[in-house]
Amino acid sequence: MIVILKNNVEQAQVQQLVKDFEAQNFAVHMSQGTNTTILGLVGDTAHVDLEKLLTIDIVRDVRRISEPYKAASRSFHPQDTIVQVGGLRIGAGTFTVIAGPCSVESKEQMETVAASVKASGAAFLRGGAFKPRTSPYSFQGLEDEGIRLLTAAKKATGLPIVTEIMSETQLPEFEDVDIIQVGARNMQNFRLLKELGHCNKPILLKRGLANTIEELLMSAEYILAGGNEQVILCERGIRTFETCIRNNLDISAIPVLKRQSHLPIIIDPSHAAGNTWMIEPLSRAALAAGADGLMIEVHNNPKAALCDGAQSLDLPQFEALMQDIKKRAAFEGKELQ
Ligand code: PEP
Ligand code: MN
Repeated sequence: MIVILKNNVEQAQVQQLVKDFEAQNFAVHMSQGTNTTILGLVGDTAHVDLEKLLTIDIVRDVRRISEPYKAASRSFHPQDTIVQVGGLRIGAGTFTVIAGPCSVESKEQMETVAASVKASGAAFLRGGAFKPRTSPYSFQGLEDEGIRLLTAAKKATGLPIVTEIMSETQLPEFEDVDIIQVGARNMQNFRLLKELGHCNKPILLKRGLANTIEELLMSAEYILAGGNEQVILCERGIRTFETCIRNNLDISAIPVLKRQSHLPIIIDPSHAAGNTWMIEPLSRAALAAGADGLMIEVHNNPKAALCDGAQSLDLPQFEALMQDIKKRAAFEGKELQ
């Protein structure tokens, strides 16, 4: 339920109303725009008497929210959320490119890729240290050593880092990580999501291989409900009957998510395409459809990559993509981070 307040009401009256709602066991999310303040109430609102609320003199309107997600919904929070991290702003008119290998493999690889993607204009460095692989016999990531190599590359280049967590027990190792990624396979690991709701780092939440947009927003809700408001959504392709591509990039998810939610959206064309030749057109489509950024797999020697080499751009290919994206972002009126 949302309670829309009248313009220019006194802060003391607002605080009193928030206290009254909290005393009734509602969690209150306050969204303050330039003119309007909205109080989003989470809890059992079924028995709330709307007519009675409308008699409060600072209340302009009261509406029930039909969506099952509340804190993630645009009705609760009409302004776009901007996630501030590493001196950068993700969302609301900016365009952020995260680039790096699928997996952290070696010191030399991370140093080479980090320096190169930075020179090409990437804002964040990615690389998986803990890898969720379909086969237990595939490379599982360098784990703690992977985090150390990523952190070293961050120190050398100044690029903030993004890496995937697979269990809440790994959180102590993520101290120097700037954005914690929840991979597609863990989108509904509710215990992990709950823990991330209590941490103070931005979370990049990837959509599951076979999850609906509503389910993605419900997973975001778990993190927001815990008090962590820094959630970035990521569409990375979903499974369909199509076999020509690894996954179907759901471009429609961008306008739907923008309409339904205030959270920034990053598109990962690499895991959708499964090849390199489709990365550029999918990136252009994402930018044109209103995405807030891209996450792209880049490797210094894709043929030798231990994971996802077929979809990894080499360094000159990434440089060419960034040249194109820079022009197109400027055309779209987006500030490249
Ligand atoms: C990744 O980003 O390396 C990854 C494993 O992606 P996803 O969870 O989308 O498959
Ligand atoms: Mn990958």
